[in-house]
Amino acid sequence: MRGINANQVFRNALRSFRNRNALVFGVLVFCLYVAPLRAAEISLQHTPLYKPEPHDSTIRIQANDFARNIARIQVRVTNGQMTDCSAGGQRPSSTIPCREKAKTQTHECQIAPPEPSASCSAKIGLGDNALVSYAATVVFEDGSKESSKTITYSGGKPAINMIARPIYWHTDLLTSSLKNKIDLALYPDDDYQGDYALFAADVSRIVAGALFNNQQEFSKNWTANRQHFNLWAGPEGADASDKCQTINLDKVKTVQMHMNGNVILHKDDWGTDCSTLGLGESSSSATVHHKGYNQRGSPDGDWVLVHEGAHLLFGLADEYDNVTSSNSRSTPKNLFTSLSACEQAALQLGLSKSTCKELSQTNGIWRIDEGKKETMREADDDSDFFNSSRAATLHRFQACENGACY
Ligand SMILES: [Zn+2]
Repeated sequence: MRGINANQVFRNALRSFRNRNALVFGVLVFCLYVAPLRAAEISLQHTPLYKPEPHDSTIRIQANDFARNIARIQVRVTNGQMTDCSAGGQRPSSTIPCREKAKTQTHECQIAPPEPSASCSAKIGLGDNALVSYAATVVFEDGSKESSKTITYSGGKPAINMIARPIYWHTDLLTSSLKNKIDLALYPDDDYQGDYALFAADVSRIVAGALFNNQQEFSKNWTANRQHFNLWAGPEGADASDKCQTINLDKVKTVQMHMNGNVILHKDDWGTDCSTLGLGESSSSATVHHKGYNQRGSPDGDWVLVHEGAHLLFGLADEYDNVTSSNSRSTPKNLFTSLSACEQAALQLGLSKSTCKELSQTNGIWRIDEGKKETMREADDDSDFFNSSRAATLHRFQACENGACY
């Protein structure tokens, strides 16, 4: 979603005006009362994440506050039909969906006795071609309130084939029309042979493991920064083959062109997956095996998504010993062509120069090695982003926070 209309410009201008006033007020509060207020943490998830058949969907809100007791959680759910935005002929058709025939319901959970940590679930029935939005308002015992972001997702069989199906789409105040989210789409490879339901189940499992998972090390970075991602399921038509020798997105081009990264999920075991070193280009693409390297006793597709996604979205290079070119595009880079460049990067990260190690004795490529399992080096659920690769992910998320991820 890179389009923006005059109405959105107005609304965003209004929003930044309000934010500025909020900031001024915030400074006053800080001066008068010394301690700044901390916002509640409100996390939103629906299960299943994506299912292209009629089903019951459970929306779960988890709220935590540091100082106040939560008395009630209200969940506002708007359910309607997914369209290509062209109804009435007033707008051109779009592969990023609109909604019509929407109905809104509010579910409420009373928290008795009030507690600083509480959850609320709402179950809703989805038919075909559904487009659902939800947001929560947390009401505290002292009468204060806080509202969450709005998440939009789709479910049931889409009425239009060539449409981007939102899995987890931030839609507050149309900010998703701007450039402050990383838009990532997953498509079925032709080796799914038309089994779109299986693809959707694989997507839900892999996305849950990569972005809704605080239990494993490799997924904590993406999970903690989920608010910067919009996740989409694409239609059939993509085709990839072993070692990225062929990646064809032509048949899904109208969806692909709106994305910052495109992932083709495949079933055939090619032994390896690969990715463009991307920095948000809509042409960037990666492949992910739906079961990862499980057959060889290594991580599942969720780990592969985080590893290939780091190439695709952050421009991070592999840090394997057999790497022969220093092709990192990340900020900061995670590979260096000289010891002095590596040492300079290490010092900037507050690390000792002695953490710089050559990949092998002869190739003249350097990395920062703290002796930890790095996601760009080790296919292991216990891996994570450290030093320069961690800084590169945080650099990108901060850019999103500042209004333009790329
Ligand atoms: Zn890699």
